[in-house]
Amino acid sequence: MAITIVDTLYLIAIILFIVGLKRLSSPDTARDGNLIAAFGMGFAIVVTLVYPMEGNNNNYIWIAGGLLLGSLVGLIAAKRVPMTAMPEMVSLFNGLGGASTMLIAIVEFYNYPADQSLLSGQMITTDFALFVGCISFTGSLIAYGKLQGFLRDSWVLPFPKLINMVLLIAIIGLSIYLLNLPSLDFNYVLILLVLSLIYGITFVTPIGGGDMPVVISLLNSFTGLGAALAGLIYSNQVMLVGGILVGASGTILTILMCQAMNRSLFNVLVGGFTSTGPAAGGSREEVVKEASLADLAIQLKYSKKVYIVPGYGLAVAQAQHLCSELDNLLEAEGVSVKYAIHPVAGRMPGHMNVLLAEANVPYPKLIDLEDANKDFPSTDVVLVIGANDVVNPAAKEDPSSPIYGMPILDVELAKSIVILKRSMSPGYAGIQNQLFFGERSRMLFGNAKSSLQKLVDEVGNA
Ligand code: NDP
Repeated sequence: MAITIVDTLYLIAIILFIVGLKRLSSPDTARDGNLIAAFGMGFAIVVTLVYPMEGNNNNYIWIAGGLLLGSLVGLIAAKRVPMTAMPEMVSLFNGLGGASTMLIAIVEFYNYPADQSLLSGQMITTDFALFVGCISFTGSLIAYGKLQGFLRDSWVLPFPKLINMVLLIAIIGLSIYLLNLPSLDFNYVLILLVLSLIYGITFVTPIGGGDMPVVISLLNSFTGLGAALAGLIYSNQVMLVGGILVGASGTILTILMCQAMNRSLFNVLVGGFTSTGPAAGGSREEVVKEASLADLAIQLKYSKKVYIVPGYGLAVAQAQHLCSELDNLLEAEGVSVKYAIHPVAGRMPGHMNVLLAEANVPYPKLIDLEDANKDFPSTDVVLVIGANDVVNPAAKEDPSSPIYGMPILDVELAKSIVILKRSMSPGYAGIQNQLFFGERSRMLFGNAKSSLQKLVDEVGNA
């Protein structure tokens, strides 16, 4: 009877997850989607507290303690972590999800009756959960280190593909051996644990640079898979469905990110993307033209169509509200203002959409790469604000460039291009950008926020 009530309550939690996820698909509804899904998760945990438990009543204290501690850490992180450091936080939390699956699998092995045969669906699932949990755990920690800059992309073990292949074969071989033992020998579980943890490190270490978004969403789908496996182990529907939802959305995101970079997943995983190559383009003799604020303000006011291309620098400077202010001023003058959104602009998928939604920029103004590229030839001014790699023509023109093949925003087709950044430093991929030296390009040097503030004042007074 109690189980039936719990199952019904779990079903409610599952419906909340699905409704939350659906609402996350548009920036307009994403905020409440997040709240609904979070409420669903809190509800599921509380329901787990009333789940009939055999034997040890201390488990209630453990669950309640975990709920309190986890909520506290989550709350502090959500308040403190800036938007630009969100991918690091996602990696870290993702790693914790992987670690949970790993711990569940270890406990299951540990508690398994020593005299019983291991070859069962339950133990095959547990073995797989151990492997997936370990990769998500150490892989996410490596991704975190790379995003934080503790670990360099150039720090790669020799023969990474060979090492990964050998480790994978050893893990599969050991798993088959372990599951065919007449009774459990926990030492083999420990060896499997260590090998899988190492595999998580060697799997992610060779990947870097612009491929990080793909790896993060791939690891996210692994964590989902791990949670789903844990749900199978415990016959817990809410864990199973929650894991499947995370795994499936992570997989879809991985595919979309690969498409955005014009790379196959295989190429991302074995190809390696390094940002340590020589800076391409922009020889010392070339000079850039600087824009004057007063001229730019007048030019913008008398334009028909203006595009804003937001990038990582806009997020760092927190200049989204000023962007929207400039947009409103220009719209009041009859200028059409739109935003060209590159799928990997910033430091995480959807980064720019979230920032602009925060500044109340209406969603229909956000134009995706393909449509924006069609629009640029008839655009009077493109303002590239803190973006670099996503507008680098080397992706189309230079086969030796690490970003070659990645679709980019063809801003050079517009009648006039103004780039707002602080210096001539390269972007994430570490390469120089020939766009800055273009015939119709001008630079407005300075922090995006202060440059935009001056521009807003200038447009207001012009
Ligand atoms: P980039 O990192 O290529 O360039 C950002 C530019 O912003 C820099 O050239 C920098 O120049 C400028 N900048 C930094 N701070 C400021 C500031 N305060 N004010 C003004 N300008 C500033 O950004 P993009 O958005 O063009 O490209 C994103 C890159 O990040 C891609 O390579 C992508 O693959 C990668 N990436 C994306 C992820 C995602 O999921 N979206 C995740 C991880 C990586 P300067 O120092 O001169 O000011």
